[in-house]
Amino acid sequence: MTKKFRICFESYESNPGHEEIVHSKEIIMNGLIEKPVDVFNFGLFHGDQIKLLHDCLDAFLKEQIALIYSEPQYCPKCKDIKLSRNGKRVSDYHDVFTDHKLEICRMRCPDCKYESGSTIQSVLGNSMSADLIKLQSELGATHTYRESEELFSVFSGAKRSINNHDRIKHTSELVGEQVGVLHRMESQVIAAEPAAELIINVDGGHINTTEDGKRSFEAMTAVVYRPEALVSNEPGTRNTLTSKHCAASALDDGQQQMINNTVAAALKQGLFPDTKVTALCDGAQNCWQIVEALRPLCASMLLILDWFHLAMKIQNISLPDEFKSRLIRVKWHLWRGKTEYALLRLDSLIKECPKAYRKRLENLQNYIMNNQSKIVDYRARQKAGLVFTSNLAESTVESLINQRCKGQQHMRWSREGLDPVLQLRAAMGSNDWNNFWKFAVRNIIK
Ligand SMILES: [Zn+2]
Repeated sequence: MTKKFRICFESYESNPGHEEIVHSKEIIMNGLIEKPVDVFNFGLFHGDQIKLLHDCLDAFLKEQIALIYSEPQYCPKCKDIKLSRNGKRVSDYHDVFTDHKLEICRMRCPDCKYESGSTIQSVLGNSMSADLIKLQSELGATHTYRESEELFSVFSGAKRSINNHDRIKHTSELVGEQVGVLHRMESQVIAAEPAAELIINVDGGHINTTEDGKRSFEAMTAVVYRPEALVSNEPGTRNTLTSKHCAASALDDGQQQMINNTVAAALKQGLFPDTKVTALCDGAQNCWQIVEALRPLCASMLLILDWFHLAMKIQNISLPDEFKSRLIRVKWHLWRGKTEYALLRLDSLIKECPKAYRKRLENLQNYIMNNQSKIVDYRARQKAGLVFTSNLAESTVESLINQRCKGQQHMRWSREGLDPVLQLRAAMGSNDWNNFWKFAVRNIIK
């Protein structure tokens, strides 16, 4: 005896008290059920899974599309004149894993010859499913467009022209622009639980540019979270932020969008007139400028020069061995918030070290002097379990800018091309994406 299987698609009507009426029945797949030997013959092959999905969906979509004509349609111009069928048109529809060709009736007004839309695009707003639009923008935001194309091919088991890199770029930009629109709108409508304390990190990243005569431009990022959202993981691994809101901008608009999105991110995290804000920045003036926008909205604000950046600045200075320990003393004082001692030590080091090293030490000196009021007792903060560095969780610059843009050194961006991708990434990095993508797709298909 051989065991076989059949997978059928049936559309039927059921009314209470009546027998079911079967409208259509189609065998989607049949074959043998064999004893499993190993993971090669257990279940269905990838190709068969896609085919099964394709044929099921195809049957389902055909039933669905027929419902468009279940009620009479009237001419929008002649009002009470009924449209009549006038042949059919085949159009394309693309779902997550499969492509479909669907027939739609052409409906025409016998009087004025008006014709209603007869493609999926014109009837439903797009020839791609909402989920495919979402996936294209998600992949496009986290991978290069060509990598995204490859990933789609791998999972679909075939190259599908709808997922070519140009289309993924186009979709990512469209969705990103809409997310940007939502970022601007949402700034007024936030009802989050008030936060006693909020942490904000602001940082910039340099991106290779396509602009003439320039090598790079700076894009800004911010992350806002409540201290209690930072949970530590196993030793040696990065901590996790259980809840956060991100802001980013690549626009050259005097920080307008960045400030706006940062305020919105803070409000969504519960910024209230009673909130104490702790801000960590790398010391660049434009970062403090963004943070200052929150000052009128909160109870108090503590500005801290990010220990991560301060320590990196020192670490990146290489000195002859006999001077190294003196630089470490400088760092030792800074770690305790004793900036004056640090500057004294640094000053004598600059005077005594070989000339070739002076420039770098003077840069450090300027950096410390410019940020003197924001250097705190980092050691005491660490002991008290208070935040003192942006390095505790994955940095936003890393996740919003570097991973996608800087990692590919050959990749060049324009501000206008990068900004939608940053908006997308910021939304995906926030607790917003689940709501945002539907809004974005609805606006695209309008
Ligand atoms: Zn008409």
